[in-house]
Amino acid sequence: MAPITPVTTTTAGTTAPTPGRASVRRITGLKPTGHLHLGNLVGAIRPTVAGQYRTETIVFLADLHALTVTHQPAQIRTLTLEQATVLLAAGLDPDRALLYVQSQVPQHTELHYLLECATGYGEAQRMIQFREKSARHRQVRLSLLSYPVLMAADILLHDVHEVPVGDDQSQHLELTRTVANRFNARYGDTFTVPRAVHPTVSSRVMDLADPTAKMGKTSSSEAGTILLLDPPEVIRRKVLRAVTDPDRTVGYDPQRRPGVANLLEILAACLGGSPTDLAADYGSYAQLKKAVAEAVESMLRPIRLRYTELSRDPGYVRRVLADGADRARDNAADTVHRAKRALGLLSH
Ligand code: AMP
Repeated sequence: MAPITPVTTTTAGTTAPTPGRASVRRITGLKPTGHLHLGNLVGAIRPTVAGQYRTETIVFLADLHALTVTHQPAQIRTLTLEQATVLLAAGLDPDRALLYVQSQVPQHTELHYLLECATGYGEAQRMIQFREKSARHRQVRLSLLSYPVLMAADILLHDVHEVPVGDDQSQHLELTRTVANRFNARYGDTFTVPRAVHPTVSSRVMDLADPTAKMGKTSSSEAGTILLLDPPEVIRRKVLRAVTDPDRTVGYDPQRRPGVANLLEILAACLGGSPTDLAADYGSYAQLKKAVAEAVESMLRPIRLRYTELSRDPGYVRRVLADGADRARDNAADTVHRAKRALGLLSH
């Protein structure tokens, strides 16, 4: 991958790539808490793979974030390698994008602590995700409270300009911006302040069995979640059993008919075109489901085949990750040095 280009931090707390360099830097993290699914592909992986030709792309496997809740050590290890392999199989090019595992770059946790010293306890406690998740469990880990600060460290470490975020992460990105601006104001310009980039609404894939819930790694139903490595017959079965509604005609109405709308949006994500236009091509749910099953299978087949090839040589994927971590450490060390100097921890 090309070396990461320097950025300038403006006193207004916004950022721009260094003059003369058009490049925008973006970061995306995937948490190895489950198998990757169609929602991850449409909402995160595909845009990231497409973006690697226009932006400096950084992708990391956020294994430290997976420790905020109960986890199986062996499973994290397996899922981290699996997700890295899926990303490569889906077209992430390690010569263009930086791909690494978060825990292999100790500057994430080093900067996390430094940023905790610029974050209020009340600020962390106000995060909606923390409030929701902590309300559901009798005991929560301290790391669940502080994880948005680790997320801020993930982002600020690399001087990124843009962070693609879904609705659920908007508040965390806002916290990142607040902490970065506060740090810059208190200790002098140190961090690039990133902006959020929001995916389009139709890039949100819903659970096929419960179209009012988002397809997720751990939150959605097994029957309604299409995993990227599902065999063709499983994909077919899940799509054919997707929830629709008593209406007999195919029409696009996300409010009144979320199940059919989800199928049309998935079809649009696979084939291009608009869900409304596509609806006109199908006379029955059976036809629509058959078309969705085929379109999803065509999109996933090359990824599955490439995944199988790459899995035969796990040494290759490990080398990509080790090389990525080396390069990430170099960039990250500069940022941590800057932050420590600003805080008075270093004399030069
Ligand atoms: P997560 O699986 O929640 O760690 O999310 C990883 C990335 O995938 C994030 O960028 C999410 O916005 C995206 N993502 C997760 N689930 C979906 C979904 N159902 N539809 C679209 N994007 C999703």
